[in-house]
Amino acid sequence: MAWENSRPSHVPTAVRDACLARDNHRCTVTQRNGTRCPETANLEAAHIDQWVWGETTTVAMVVTKCHWHHNRETQAQAAAARGPRQSYLRAEERHPGLLHE
Ligand SMILES: [Zn+2]
Repeated sequence: MAWENSRPSHVPTAVRDACLARDNHRCTVTQRNGTRCPETANLEAAHIDQWVWGETTTVAMVVTKCHWHHNRETQAQAAAARGPRQSYLRAEERHPGLLHE
């Protein structure tokens, strides 16, 4: 489909669905307190390793993450690619939907 080509790192729907089913439709990220993120909404199939142009995504290459965790990781990868720069250093954001100790 044309719209998938406009976003090359997009995970095919069938792969995304299989990924979410395997992970019981829940974010797989382990939080700092050792518990698994309880988010079951706004889930996305996130690449385990950074996606490479032209690579075909398979279920083995993705894990389920909530949008918040996926977005935070994507931003961290982008920051790492840029290298440390003072203006990008920000205080850690808290997950808006979760209770923290
Ligand atoms: Zn999460």
